[in-house]
Amino acid sequence: MHQPDFTLTAGPISASPRTLAALGSPIVFDYDPVFLERFAALERKVAALYAGTKSDIVLMQGEAVLGLEATARSLVRPGMTCLNLASGVYGKWFGRWLAEYGADLVELEVPYDEAVDPAAVERVFRERPEIELVSVVHSETPSGTVNPIHEICPIAKRHGALTIVDCVSSLGGTEVRPDDWGLDVCIAGPQKCLSGPPGMSLVAVSDDAWAAIRANPAAPRGSFLSLLDWKETWIEGGRTQFPYTPSVAEVHGVSAACDDVLEEGLPAVIERHDRAAAACRAGIRAMGLEPWAKSDEIATNCVTAVRKPDGAEIAGILRHARERYGVMLSAGYGELKPKLLRIGHMGVASRSLNVVVGLSALGRTLADFGVPVRTGDGVEAALEVLSAGAGVGSAA
Ligand SMILES: *Cc1c(COP(=O)(O)O)cnc(C)c1O
Repeated sequence: MHQPDFTLTAGPISASPRTLAALGSPIVFDYDPVFLERFAALERKVAALYAGTKSDIVLMQGEAVLGLEATARSLVRPGMTCLNLASGVYGKWFGRWLAEYGADLVELEVPYDEAVDPAAVERVFRERPEIELVSVVHSETPSGTVNPIHEICPIAKRHGALTIVDCVSSLGGTEVRPDDWGLDVCIAGPQKCLSGPPGMSLVAVSDDAWAAIRANPAAPRGSFLSLLDWKETWIEGGRTQFPYTPSVAEVHGVSAACDDVLEEGLPAVIERHDRAAAACRAGIRAMGLEPWAKSDEIATNCVTAVRKPDGAEIAGILRHARERYGVMLSAGYGELKPKLLRIGHMGVASRSLNVVVGLSALGRTLADFGVPVRTGDGVEAALEVLSAGAGVGSAA
């Protein structure tokens, strides 16, 4: 089989020519002054994407799950009361980690087509004032929903709790403001809205979080999972010494991906994601299908999850779209696998008419299976939304 013509998935997605070229640039010694400066510069770029946060940026050398696991391990003390907010597969998964590391787990779970209500978080704090840590997923990629972290995290901070936010699929596509919203540790991935390669965790750690990690005897030290090693060796060592060798090619690739976003301007990039998502939802509805998210207010802008229509199975739909039309879409994830499919519009896939390609591939595939859909209406509705914007293509 050859390469897909369009990768419209929930990530990893395609990269820009500049990012691909950077990934192929010469491998240098990690202590070469050129690389030390590039590494430090990447920290500054990531801080800019996190709305210019004053938090330390830690670039862990592994897919975002490394950063998520390292954060849970670093902050949880056995017996600590932690509130996990679960509105989807990733949120639920994080709770299992907290429990495994000894947390006394309080979980607020909502159906996976809904978002967490800040008022419910306030109520849990009134019942359980001993909660010291709150974990939440910003954009629940598997169900295409978004949680209001700008309301939830200030509540947690008011009650003296630390916050951990999984921003893996929101950074670069949605505003993430750690300093304004009281986000103590944020973990993002380059392979979602940044259109980068999938080998790094972009972690932002606040001073409050560092104090808690230092005070935690259970926090990993001398370990690939250690945030503290990065703080003590690299950051406090004046950025001259790594705890272990970073993956040089990833650093080059992620830097280029960040440059793409920062040069275009973060607000413009976020607006493009918003527009692509709105176009996709409009197209889905006009085709006669149904978005998974209960309302547009809680729909994430990096991916649109679509309820499985009757008359076709998810695996068959995806295979047909890929084999017949060269378009790679995503299934659900975890327990959502048989229930929905997803059209990704993150990073470069949010540009130009990619959404129209995704809608056409899905609509025509369903028609090929005999499922009644109005693909043309969907395309028309999506184009209507796209053309109302300031410009979505590379000439814009
Ligand atoms: C992509 C993603 C991750 C990383 O998980 P993988 O399955 O390894 O890609 C974590 N959290 C969220 C919300 C994500 O979208």
